[in-house]
Amino acid sequence: MQKLKNYINGELVEPISDTYLDNFNPAEGKVYSHIPDSGETDVLAAVEAAQAAFEEWSTLPIQRRSDIMLKIADLVDRDHDKLAMAESIDNGKPLKLAKRVDIPRASANMRFYATALLHFASESHQTDGEAINYTLRKPIGVAGCISPWNLPLYLFTWKIAPALAAGNTVVAKPSEVTPMTAYLFTELCIEAGLPPGVLNVVHGLGTKAGQAIIEHPAVPVISFTGGTTTGKQIASTAAPMFKKLSLELGGKNPNLIFADCDFEQALKTSLQSSFANQGEICLCGSRIFIEQDIYEKFKTAFVEKAKALTVGDPLEEGTNIGAIVSGTHKEKILSYIRLAREEGGNILTGGEQVTVPGRCENGYFIAPTVIDGLDHKCRVNQEEIFGPVVTLIPFKHEDEVIEYANSTAYGLSATLWTENLKRAHRVADQLKSGIIWVNCWLLRDLRTPFGGMKQSGIGREGGWEALRFFTGSKNVCIKL
Ligand code: NAD
Repeated sequence: MQKLKNYINGELVEPISDTYLDNFNPAEGKVYSHIPDSGETDVLAAVEAAQAAFEEWSTLPIQRRSDIMLKIADLVDRDHDKLAMAESIDNGKPLKLAKRVDIPRASANMRFYATALLHFASESHQTDGEAINYTLRKPIGVAGCISPWNLPLYLFTWKIAPALAAGNTVVAKPSEVTPMTAYLFTELCIEAGLPPGVLNVVHGLGTKAGQAIIEHPAVPVISFTGGTTTGKQIASTAAPMFKKLSLELGGKNPNLIFADCDFEQALKTSLQSSFANQGEICLCGSRIFIEQDIYEKFKTAFVEKAKALTVGDPLEEGTNIGAIVSGTHKEKILSYIRLAREEGGNILTGGEQVTVPGRCENGYFIAPTVIDGLDHKCRVNQEEIFGPVVTLIPFKHEDEVIEYANSTAYGLSATLWTENLKRAHRVADQLKSGIIWVNCWLLRDLRTPFGGMKQSGIGREGGWEALRFFTGSKNVCIKL
């Protein structure tokens, strides 16, 4: 059975303890490879390598840095099919989704920051006729980048690309649940000639390898994407050490459907925003608020479309909903469906596990689940489920739905559907979310700020925001 390796100082190496963790194929519910169970000593070696590489990488001419990153992007494109297959097997997502979204976005992330760094400029300020200030932006040092399992290579590269482009060296830890594509990526880094130590990837548990990265005093900047509880734990370690922190955390995103919307478009896109990637996207709209006048019509059509989705083998072309990422996560989702029943919800469709016959008979599958009859304040409508489960809630007035939408501890994204331009601006302005989509969902421009309010995180990724995050500013004031 394949054993993955850490990538430290330009080489693929075994964990120092020589211990490994099981890596599951969630569609089959069985172990298919092993990953290093790395600990503090592996992280120490990775940080030392990153420190040693910093001087050379941070002073490399930016064109050269850009060229190496573009070479890696080319290799990701070359290996598109292989990486998509690996992502689908490791995560359970439909292969066609990995082909269309995950892998193209991973190479786009590398390309975007490889070219952004060529255009990154600093500011200058003239102080009346008395002085001139210019602000330098310098790479910080060794960046710690920790990513989750839902969009494995997509989010891994979304962090390491700006960190490297800004001239930092990196110690990264992909999720132990989906380590495969980050491992394959390290092979491409070697092939592309990335200098040793510039990127180091340590596999293993969050509480062990991840925590060791956060605690290391020579890692002054941390970029984390994952759950809100983990984010709190990371902040409690990193804040007293005065580390620079970016936290992209959970969500409980509202999807507001006004009666004056383009009904067919709202229906079609809401199906995607509910169930794409098995609902395991931090931006999925899990609470659908529908204006009373069209509530019954929308409910009937939405449930019918959800019922028609094919839950099945992720590798088959006709599959819409693949496997849930792990047995543990499947149980968590099912426990929320039970809670929905206890809280008085009606399961309109789904609500149960699905057995996919053949090679996937022991896999982790859940039918797309639609629930109504729940109050917006109940736990099912307040807590992140992160699976193929959505609730439908009617509303009468704009003010009322804004209150419902803003009623959770989260504030990542929100979607609203209306053909009324004034309403679109008015409601977008009042929603307490970092990302608002009007008449669309997950339409991304990598230049825009990405991140959440409230317990969905602090800091913003994307565009210049990420390059600013991964650099420290230094102002120089010269008296004229
Ligand atoms: P998680 O918090 O369990 O794990 C995320 C990463 O953190 C993993 O690599 C894990 O090993 C590591 N980790 C865990 N404990 C750690 C610790 N003490 N110190 C350092 N690292 C530690 O999250 P998950 O279950 O992998 O991902 C799902 C969550 O991620 C959901 O809440 C989802 O909303 C969120 N998410 C947010 C965004 C966003 O952009 N805001 C994007 C994707 C996913």
